[in-house]
Formats: sequence, structure tokens, C-alpha cells
Amino acid sequence: MKYSLLIITLINLFVQAQTFRINRPVPDTIETNGSYLFGEPRYQDPQYAHRGIDILIRYDTVRSATNGSVYYVGYEPDGAGNYVVIRSMYNGRLVYFYYMHLQQSLVAVNDVVLSSQPIAISGNTGRSTGPHLHFEIRYDSPSSSPRKTRNPELWCAITGMGAIYGRVPNAPNSTRVDIYPDPKPRPPYTTFSYALTYNFNDPYIGSDEVYNENYAIGDVKPGTYTIRSMNNTYVRTVTVAAGQIVNADQPNDVDLNLPVPEDFALMQNYPNPFNPTTVISFKIPEQSYVQLKVFDILGNEIASLVDEEKSAGEYHQFFDAYGLSSGVYVYTIVAQSISGRAFRESKKMMLLK
Ligand SMILES: [Zn+2]
Repeated sequence: MKYSLLIITLINLFVQAQTFRINRPVPDTIETNGSYLFGEPRYQDPQYAHRGIDILIRYDTVRSATNGSVYYVGYEPDGAGNYVVIRSMYNGRLVYFYYMHLQQSLVAVNDVVLSSQPIAISGNTGRSTGPHLHFEIRYDSPSSSPRKTRNPELWCAITGMGAIYGRVPNAPNSTRVDIYPDPKPRPPYTTFSYALTYNFNDPYIGSDEVYNENYAIGDVKPGTYTIRSMNNTYVRTVTVAAGQIVNADQPNDVDLNLPVPEDFALMQNYPNPFNPTTVISFKIPEQSYVQLKVFDILGNEIASLVDEEKSAGEYHQFFDAYGLSSGVYVYTIVAQSISGRAFRESKKMMLLK
């Protein structure tokens, strides 16, 4: 491997490799409510936003997500119900973790708690329409302060899952962001395969200092996804590995965790048949000039997907057939490596509307 390539690879690893910061406070078998995400317009007052996530635990043990100390144990009949606040630190800053709608607290103020220690039994107290845990993260101060709440789905996840975040430029609040295929780990009963950009009309909703996101999708199965928003003016392809938090807006179509391929390869697109988007994967064994094009069956060029120098690796290229008619299309890769190896291959795919 050339030094320059090594350095680029290391930089890519550095920018991409974000990991979860805390433990999830419930067992992995319990899902987060995907139909009421962080930053969504609030059910009761849509001008404000949901400042945490709702985890669908019934009357069961809630464990501390962090080491810390119990800052407050309280009761708000018209709001949080029984709740516990754990004070902790992250990167030298105070962070307050709120556990709301509890049946019962198992800790008292000033108790020192360790990560994963039972702190409460979840419940349905306060302004709550069914048993669940509202989990909320506030920076710096226990009282809500401007832009200081954070999306817990970028702090913790079900074991083996990842998360995706990004910023849709100029997106109005609550703009729909679609992800394909469905990234959720099991058949959802309340999870949707889309997110919404945060409702920043709520002055307390904030983006992460590192991620600067305006949308996030948590508990994502490892895989390759396409993300679309704003009438397909925002389209991203992103590959997520277990335990990783990936920025959809940074080029990461090369999978750095896989060994360098020994030979060129063009894979069958997935899904196939498709409507209207699919992913075409290919492998490059050494630095090469790569062209990937799509043609109709008469040989007319429909799209040029790749036309540039690529380093060794496995790539996942998104193709959007929006506006094309049903039928068979051909995609062709032409690659010329720096050492003079040439590769050309075509495959068919079926658009079915
Ligand atoms: Zn909630």
C-alpha cells in the first residue's frame, strides 16, 4: 500500500469511527418507539418537540446508562411522573440523564450509581398514555436550557446495531428523511423506516457538537442504505457496521473494514427487481480509473454513476431510476488499474414499477 493511500485510509477511519457513548438502559429485546422520535413535533403541542426518546419497556427494571450520582428523584403529576435524574460527565462536561414516567425509583438523591445498575421500575406515571420510559439527555444544566438536549439514539443502541446521522441542507423543520431498505432490527409495530429533521422551533432541541446533525436514525441493522429527502435533491448512500455511528454526508462508500479484494468484481444489484432505487456493488483490487454506467437495452446511456479514480476496496453505488420506465437495463463497469490491469463487465437489472 502506498503511504498516501494509507494516510487517506487512516483519515477516513478517524472521521468515520464514532461509537456509542453510554449503555442502553433497558434489555436489547425492547425497542425504541420509532413513531415518536427525538425532535419530532410534540403530540400535545406541535410547536414544541419531543426532547427525548420513548423506550417501550413495560413495568420492568431500568438500569443506569452511565456511572454517575443521583441528582434528583421527583414527581410531576402533569409531566414526567415519577422521575430520576442521574448526573454524569462526558468529555469534561456535565450531562444529566432523565428517566421519566417511572412506577418507582430504586435510588435516592446523592447515591452513587454504576453503569447498568438498576435504578427504577418503569411505569406509566405523569403525562403518559401507556407504560414506557422517556429517556432524555441534557448538557450542562439540569434545567432545560437552549439547544442543550441531545438525541439519545446517537448515544446508545441495541447491541449489534449502528446509527446514521446527517444534515439535510436548508430543510424545513420536520422534513421527512426516508431510508431504504428498512433498517430496523425486527418486525416493527411502531417503528417507521423514516426519520424527520428536528423541530428546532423548540428552543431546547440541539445538535451534537461532533455530529452537527439535523436528523438521525437509531438502532440500524448493519448494512448499506440509501437515504433520500427533499424530493430526491438529498440522496446519500451509507454503510453502517455494528456499533458504529456513521455520517451519511461523508463519502464512505468504500467499506474499510473488509480486506482488500484480490480481483475485480461486479456484483448483481440489490434489490433486483427494484423500484425505483437499487445498489450496485463492485470490487477494485488496486487503484484504478473506474467508470460505471447504466444503459437501456438499445444501448443508449441512461446514467453515468462513477467516473473517477478509486482506491482498492469494495464499493456500494446507489442508483435511482426515478422517472424511467419499467424494463431491463444494463450496467457496465470499465476499470483500468495503475499497474495496467483492465476489467470490463456488464449485468442486467430489472426496473419493475
Ligand atoms: Zn417521551
